[in-house]
Amino acid sequence: MVPEVARLLHYPNIDPSDRAEAIGDALEALGVAPAALKAPAKKRAAGKAKSGKAARKSARTKTHGTGKICSKLDTPVTNLFRVGPQYEKLLKKLNIATYEDFLYHFPRKYLDRSNFTPVSDIRPGQAVNIIADVTEISTRRARRMNLTRGVLSDESDSIAAVWFNQPYLQKTLQGRRNVAFFGRARWGRDGPELSAPDFELDLNRSLHAGRQVPVYPATGKLTQKILRLWAREVVDACAGLVVDFLPAEVIAAAGLIPTDRALHDIHFPESPEAAAAAVKRLAFDELFLLQLGVLERRRDWREGSPGRAIEQNREPVRQFVRDLPFKLTGNQSDAIGDILDDIERPVAMNRLLQGDVGSGKTVVAAAAILACVRAGHQAAIMAPTQLLAEQHLATLNQVFQGEEIVVELITGALTKAKRRKAWARVAAGEVDVVVGTQALITDEAEFDSLTFIVIDEQHRFGVHQRARIRGLGINPHVLVMTATPIPRTLALTIYGDLDISRIAEMPPGRLPVKTALIAPEQRAKSFAFIREQVAEGRQVFVVFPLIEESETLQVRSAEAEFERLRSDVFPQLAERIGLLHGRLTNKAKTAVMNAFRDHELDILVTTAVVEVGVDVPNATIMMVEGAERFGLAQLHQFRGRVGRSDLQSYCLLLSDSEDAADNQRLLAMTRTNDGFQLAERDLELRGPGEVLGSRQSGLPELRVASLSDVATLELSRREAIALFKRDPDLREGDNRLVRERLDSFWDRRTEVS
Ligand code: ADP
Ligand code: MG
Repeated sequence: MVPEVARLLHYPNIDPSDRAEAIGDALEALGVAPAALKAPAKKRAAGKAKSGKAARKSARTKTHGTGKICSKLDTPVTNLFRVGPQYEKLLKKLNIATYEDFLYHFPRKYLDRSNFTPVSDIRPGQAVNIIADVTEISTRRARRMNLTRGVLSDESDSIAAVWFNQPYLQKTLQGRRNVAFFGRARWGRDGPELSAPDFELDLNRSLHAGRQVPVYPATGKLTQKILRLWAREVVDACAGLVVDFLPAEVIAAAGLIPTDRALHDIHFPESPEAAAAAVKRLAFDELFLLQLGVLERRRDWREGSPGRAIEQNREPVRQFVRDLPFKLTGNQSDAIGDILDDIERPVAMNRLLQGDVGSGKTVVAAAAILACVRAGHQAAIMAPTQLLAEQHLATLNQVFQGEEIVVELITGALTKAKRRKAWARVAAGEVDVVVGTQALITDEAEFDSLTFIVIDEQHRFGVHQRARIRGLGINPHVLVMTATPIPRTLALTIYGDLDISRIAEMPPGRLPVKTALIAPEQRAKSFAFIREQVAEGRQVFVVFPLIEESETLQVRSAEAEFERLRSDVFPQLAERIGLLHGRLTNKAKTAVMNAFRDHELDILVTTAVVEVGVDVPNATIMMVEGAERFGLAQLHQFRGRVGRSDLQSYCLLLSDSEDAADNQRLLAMTRTNDGFQLAERDLELRGPGEVLGSRQSGLPELRVASLSDVATLELSRREAIALFKRDPDLREGDNRLVRERLDSFWDRRTEVS
């Protein structure tokens, strides 16, 4: 028998009724089909016609863009061994319609079955992977069943194996030597035995044993075994057909293996190292294309974005800095310098100011706003919440004291009439700075000379909101601010069309916030501690957990807790406890927030509404109830509400969850105050898509690469920049292959509405 066919038949769980067709297919695939066996061809042809359509469709929604030269990649999966309508449907669920799709359906992990266990070491209950000779085999009828029993022996020992209702196995296995068996050992009649183990006869072409065995993302009834079988067929047929689009010098410089090798090895690696090299190559491809696209977008942005040069005399800013109640950190001064340099040029600034919570970004924005206004232009600042917008209004009014600068607040809280009036004043040029929320993005908006825009906590806004606010002026200079402390290369990738200024240091004299995980029975102690701090004149936030199901429930629990704290826990402070949540009217929110800021309240019971931006330097305790329900980034933001002065501050994380102590996020919080480390931890725990909202960022979808793989990110960026310098339009020679791949890769972008 043709060995290939023999191999196919040795998977005991292939339904015998499929066997004839299987032989036909296998022989056909091998090009040795005897005429008599070709009967199923008609059915297959019909199948082909149908899936031909599917293949064309998938060609239209091309995802891999392999720059294919050979139609073999387009072969519908129905050409694969045993794939009929059922399997076709299941494969479709995995987005696999063609050989090419399958080629790019990568294993999610590998099982290391490269080492075989000596038979003498087998213990019942274990997964077993042995090489043995079949020294005995026989089949008998027992209890209306065909029972095949064999004895498998290696140098160390022998073990029994049994199979049920597969009498043909006797012939297949009789007298065979060096067969790989794998399955589970259990207690049998006379000691350990293998129950219906799978096996492979030809170890040189083994798929399931004696190697790194791929494990694929699967669905429904698709078994790993059948997927591996198909993968082998596809890899054999197609891995060598995909054009290597990378220029040779890039491959050499980055130390990569060729595409065909990578496509083979990612499915069937000889070793973990080979798998890693394959992953590295394919991940590099994606990140390289990502970086190239980002560089192009950045160039297009620059060329297509003339801006208004703001002629400035820097004296007002110097004066402003001198008059501040504190000395700026070096990073803050540098950031201000970056911005002032940018806005002097006739190119629209597009800059990201990145700095951990509490690092002092607002004052940087204020200095830049001042420069604009002094040069006779209008500026705007957009914040994600009403609270924060009001706080910015207060801050600007305070730092611009004595300057003749008119700041106007425009939010959804204004009545229609008031809003119309406000916009009229803005349009007439009577207002210098507009502070607001999303409400700034409206058809009503009309500016006299808007030249500078600040977007605070930019990660809170969607891509389209950011794009729309940019559209408010005529190519205004834009400063976006964020506390998401992601590694620089990643930032350059995600925010590819932005320049970056970074505040990496905290203002001097800040003490790291002390963070503790508090068990429910220690709650009383926490309250005692809060009492002490309040007696010393400090203030406290008590945050109530997110209740996903309903905001109403959440509000109710915060309200109930507020009452309980007033009547039972802190009766002496009853009048000095405030309640702030999302369901209050804007007016009420402002009143409570102001009262807390002015220290008319000692304790603020609140919800996630205080998550971002709120700045009350006298607050020293952040107590978070139900802390296990918040994400790491959120907890870090909460903690950032305290520790904003030279007072020692505390973050108390309470959790009613049994395994709070095991909660990776809560532990991470107690171990470090460094937003960077936490961000990296968060990347690990949740993945970049969740952390950065990259699904929203308009970047192409990645299959192999991870944005948290900083090493490959950096390598690919370096090489992309080099190629971009050599041939910015990718027109020379083989660089056209890069061009093609680049375009189809960026077509994979998640659509942004
Ligand atoms: P964030 O970067 O989180 O937006 P803020 O701009 O709200 O931080 O600043 C946090 C607090 O630190 C504010 O009270 C601000 O006045 C204060 N601050 C900012 N810069 C300095 C500095 N260089 N020295 C001391 N305090 C500063
Ligand atoms: Mg801020």
